[in-house]
Amino acid sequence: MSFEALGLAPGLLSALAKAGFDEPTSVQAAAIPRALAGHDLMVSSQTGSGKTAAFMLPALQRIAGRPANKGSGVQVLVLTPTRELAMQVSDATRQYGAQLKDLRIATVVGGMPYGAQIKALSRRVDVLVATPGRLIDHLQARRVNLSTVHTLVLDEADRMLDMGFIEDIESIIERLPQERQTLLFSATLDGTVARLAAKMMNEPQRIEI
Ligand code: AMP
Repeated sequence: MSFEALGLAPGLLSALAKAGFDEPTSVQAAAIPRALAGHDLMVSSQTGSGKTAAFMLPALQRIAGRPANKGSGVQVLVLTPTRELAMQVSDATRQYGAQLKDLRIATVVGGMPYGAQIKALSRRVDVLVATPGRLIDHLQARRVNLSTVHTLVLDEADRMLDMGFIEDIESIIERLPQERQTLLFSATLDGTVARLAAKMMNEPQRIEI
């Protein structure tokens, strides 16, 4: 199995070659073609499985395929439970999206100063990576608009729910277009995660690796 066979665009393939990724991990092989086909996905996956590329490569492909890239508002929103994970996702996005022209990534997390985040949000943002609580702060202050998001990613959804972010997540989702793609990654897919998915996903396909 190769990344080419998954249907990824040349700019992403060259970034992957540069990163030294020879072949997709199993979660990538399962998730990428279905995400590119536009399905909502619920994926059970552990840290270290290559899950970040599994959601970010299809999301970046969608950005790359849009003619009116500039000035179109936040396109991809990734919610993560922790600041550290958000930073890792942003770094990975920068790496995987290195060949996309002028890709703008903003990271909005708790425990960090507001100034740099406010400045980043005042400019064009293509990919926004955020922890729920701090994103709510910025939303309430009307510093960010989520009405143009086409892809929502919930990374480590079970951890976000364990940390008590359910109300924040629901309030963020209310501000997103109903017509969007939602990709949920979680160690477990049952219980509260399944209930959240039932509320906010559209006929999700389950991938359990
Ligand atoms: P993640 O599970 O997304 O945190 O990824 C874990 C690590 O695996 C990261 O350091 C990635 O750079 C690396 N990685 C992801 N996909 C691949 C791949 N297909 N081949 C080699 N390394 C990968």
